[in-house]
Formats: sequence, C-alpha cells, structure tokens
Amino acid sequence: MTDATTPAPERTLVLVKPDGVRRGLSGEILRRIEAKGYTLTAVELKNATPDVLAQHYAEHEGKPFYAPLVEFMLSGPVLAVVAEGQGVIAGFRSLAGATDPTAAAPGTIRGDLGRDWGLKVQQNLVHGSDSPESAEREIGLWFPQP
Ligand code: UDP
Repeated sequence: MTDATTPAPERTLVLVKPDGVRRGLSGEILRRIEAKGYTLTAVELKNATPDVLAQHYAEHEGKPFYAPLVEFMLSGPVLAVVAEGQGVIAGFRSLAGATDPTAAAPGTIRGDLGRDWGLKVQQNLVHGSDSPESAEREIGLWFPQP
C-alpha cells in the first residue's frame, strides 16, 4: 500500500532492441527480469520513431556510432518495458551486462545471449536506464501520457 509517506517504487525503462525481438528473445529477457524479483508494470511492442530516438539517444549525438545506432533501432519493432522494484535501475544494468556483448560476463543477458556480429553498432539486445532522472524521462518518452 502506498500513501503520502511511502516513496514511489523505483522504476526503469527497459527496451528489448530489434535484434532481441527478431531473435525471439523477448520472453527470455522478460523471464530474467521477473526471476530477479522485479515487477513488469508496462510491456508494449512498438515501432521506434526518429523523433523518439533523437531524444532517447540525445547524449550520443555526434558520436561515430550514433547514425548506425538510430538506423538499427528503426530496423524492426522494440519491446518497451517498465520494470519496478527496489534498486531496479542498477539491478537491471547488472542483469544486462557490459555494453559490448563479447566482453559481457556469462550469466548476463548480453553475455549469455549476445555476440559481436561484425556490424557497425553493438547489437546488444537490451537498453536499461542509467539513473532515476533518465528512467523518468525515458518512461515519459516511450509511454507518453495523454
Ligand atoms: N554503442 C555502440 N558502440 C559504442 C558504444 C555504444 O554501438 O562504442 C551503442 C550500443 O547499442 C549501446 C548504445 O549505443 O547499447 C548506448 O550506449 P551506452 O554507452 O549508453 O551503453 P549502454 O548503457 O546501453 O550499455
């Protein structure tokens, strides 16, 4: 039960990127989030748009991987997920593993299920917010309230 004195539970925005959806790994990724004990409060298959991606990846604009990253994120649907629970922001990033799937530790999503495909961008299956501020901003972007 929540009331005025109970802080809102921590939330994060997870994306199963187009490579994860294409490879049929959405269920496995959601399973790992739930098995860790987090609650899924929104799950929706979406087509990203250039506008949403420009905002989502604003911090990377101008970097060499930015244009191929946006192209990759537009290459198929993504599964947008809100997961909730104490410590979920750091906890999901720990479940996801290092950005480079070749270097990501076994036991992590990227370490167990990802690999280097020799393409221009790290196709590393998932995105997870990196701070409470990013999480709220990204949840608002992917699940806009009317
Ligand atoms: N990325 C890439 N090459 C790089 C760094 C990042 O292709 O050298 C891509 C990769 O898909 C990554 C995303 O850009 O997930 C965002 O980068 P960030 O450093 O925020 O990594 P993350 O938080 O996703 O681990």
